[in-house]
This record gives sequence, structure tokens and C-alpha cells, in this order.
Amino acid sequence: MGYPFMYGMDPVLMGISAVCLVLSLAAQWLVKSAFARYSRVANTRNLSGAEAAQKMLSAEGIVGVAIRRYNGSWLSDHYDPSSRVINLSPDVYDGRSVAAVGIACHEAGHALQHAQKYAFLGLRTLLVPTAGLGSKLGIPLIFIGMALGSLGLAKAGLILFGAVFVFQLITLPVELNASARAKQALLAHGIVGTGREAAGVSSVLNAAALTYVAAAIASLMELLYWAWRLGLIGGRRSNR
Ligand SMILES: [Zn+2]
Repeated sequence: MGYPFMYGMDPVLMGISAVCLVLSLAAQWLVKSAFARYSRVANTRNLSGAEAAQKMLSAEGIVGVAIRRYNGSWLSDHYDPSSRVINLSPDVYDGRSVAAVGIACHEAGHALQHAQKYAFLGLRTLLVPTAGLGSKLGIPLIFIGMALGSLGLAKAGLILFGAVFVFQLITLPVELNASARAKQALLAHGIVGTGREAAGVSSVLNAAALTYVAAAIASLMELLYWAWRLGLIGGRRSNR
């Protein structure tokens, strides 16, 4: 066996994990601090997050989308396409800050994407089951394949895990587009002013987008690592 660290701690994998952890924590810290900062800045029209999201939906003629106060964890805000519900955490639902309307309208942006059949959102929804399977079975299959000396099985695991990365990659335009829609609507309806308020919305939403970038980078690094371990890239031989 050519891998002295086959079942032990691989320093390369440990290094990758450390880099990914730092990236993820940094992105989360940026969201937290941007949200904290701009949740103290009131928006021009003094609307709550829920009111701003409703305004954005109404302006686009979207009906049948509910906006609910969702008692999930901090910043668990999300749009659920299956029930057509915008779930907003209490801070965002009731908040009358620049941060609250920014997040609320980002979620309304997803509802708009859904109603207007935005292609990347449809593609992302299609990939949910495969990516779910890939995140559960991808790495275990690679391990089993390596243990049994079956490159075919390990490759199948790698491809399955690759679906996770593709899913995260497709998530990026979906998220950026929802944020762009939110920024545009907030300005168009005069909910936030063009100066510090608009900058605050950008700061919160850009930081939120970074968490998705960090997740995609982490998946890519892991994918490349396993491709390298299997000898598929970088001139390393497979474990047989
Ligand atoms: Zn989003």
C-alpha cells in the first residue's frame, strides 16, 4: 500500500479541512457583524422585513406566496418553494432596520425567481435529491472502494460527491440574483436610501453570499483532494 496515512490523519486533508473551517468561520463572522451593524440602522420608510417583502411581491404581481414568522435559529430565513412560503426569523420579520429588509427582500427575491421560473433555481431544485445522496454516500463509497481496492466504486463515490459541488456552484447565481433583485426593489420602492442604507443592504447580502462561496470552495477542495488520492489527477497512482 502506497499510503502511509491511508487510515490515519492525512496532513493534506487536515490542512484542507483547516483552510475550509477558517473560510467558513470568517464568512459567518462577516455576516454576523454586518447584520449586527445594520440592524441598528432604520430604513427610510420604517417598514418591517415582512412588510418590505410583501411590498416587493405585490409590486411584481406575485400572489399566493405567504410570509411567515419562523422560529428557527438565527438567520434561518429561507424561501420554501414546495409550500411557497417565505420563512423569516423574528429579527427579520419584525425588524425595521436596513439589515432586516435586506434579508427579507432577498428571500422575496427567491419567491420571484420561483414564480418567474428562473432557470438556475429550477436546476438547483432538480439537483437537491442527487446532492443529498452525494453528501451522505459520496465519501463513504470512496472509502469502501479504496478499502476493497475497487477504483470503480471509489469513482462512483467521487462522481456522487461531485454532485454536491455542482449543487453549490449552481447555488451561487441563485443567491446573487436574489440579492440583486432585493437591492433593486429596495431602492425602487424607496425603502432604503441611496447612501449608507443601500451600502448596508449590500454589506449584509454580500457577506451572506460569501458563506455560499466558502461552502463551494470547501466542496471543490475536497473533491480535488479525493480525485488526487484516487490517482485521477496530479499523476498519483490509484490505491491498488
Ligand atoms: Zn438565498
